[in-house]
Amino acid sequence: EERTWMDRFIDSGFIDTFRYYAMQIHIQHLWKRFGSHDVLKDICLKKDDIHALVLIGPSGSGKTTLLRCLSGLIQPDQGSVSINNTKLPSDEEALRDYRKHVGMVFQSYNLFPHLSALQNILLPLEKVHGKTYDEAMEIAQRMLKRFRLEEQAHKKPYQLSGGQQQRIALSRSIAIAPEFLVLDEPTSALDPELTVEVLDMIKELRQEDIHLILATHHMGFVTHVADYICFLEDGRLATHGHAQEILKSSEHPSVQNFLTQVL
Ligand code: ADP
Repeated sequence: EERTWMDRFIDSGFIDTFRYYAMQIHIQHLWKRFGSHDVLKDICLKKDDIHALVLIGPSGSGKTTLLRCLSGLIQPDQGSVSINNTKLPSDEEALRDYRKHVGMVFQSYNLFPHLSALQNILLPLEKVHGKTYDEAMEIAQRMLKRFRLEEQAHKKPYQLSGGQQQRIALSRSIAIAPEFLVLDEPTSALDPELTVEVLDMIKELRQEDIHLILATHHMGFVTHVADYICFLEDGRLATHGHAQEILKSSEHPSVQNFLTQVL
């Protein structure tokens, strides 16, 4: 029987390889409580084809708490999380290890204030990731060059703009070759004119297919990066779906209400 190029293509495993490069996120019945306040309530999500997951929702809806759970910074009270077939561990030692594979950038205060931009990237590679000084230096310099930040290499955070600081923080999070990046409103502390350079860098990372899980209020930006959107409201996953469905045609009244406020 004649084999077509398509049969050979399928046999080559290319499609499986491609699928592998999507992120798997399985969240089952996740609950998180602070004191008597249920901040995350029974979050469930099962997706195998994610490249960039975006969390949206009003302030206080639980986005940061969910990102902190997914990064292994805090432990849920109930439920489980598994990303790329790796289950979020429950003991502290294993969690510390898990966190090494996650790149994280928060709203602000990401950099060590007493270190230069270069040292900020270099130090975690050496101290946390076991690179030699020479290896760490090579990676740090490559990152600064790649993101056009060489001129800032020897400046301390206070000598950099907020946008430059966040770009250094992003460079540092990429330098460790993370499994995925978690970004919590990385531009919310920035003036609008500095926001663009940070969003552009995140778009660049997305184009390189670095996996992203992020919270943001910039809906215009969401349309550029998101392939899947989760809308949180009062600790619940009120609705979720592919970006276009949620943004263009969501019939969920609180999503519409939220979108009219932020757009
Ligand atoms: P969002 O990121 O959507 O603004 P958060 O996850 O920051 O929401 O917060 C959700 C709710 O959890 C808020 O009511 C907040 O006050 C509360 N919360 C968050 N972290 C803590 C904490 N460490 N202790 C007590 N309450 C917290």
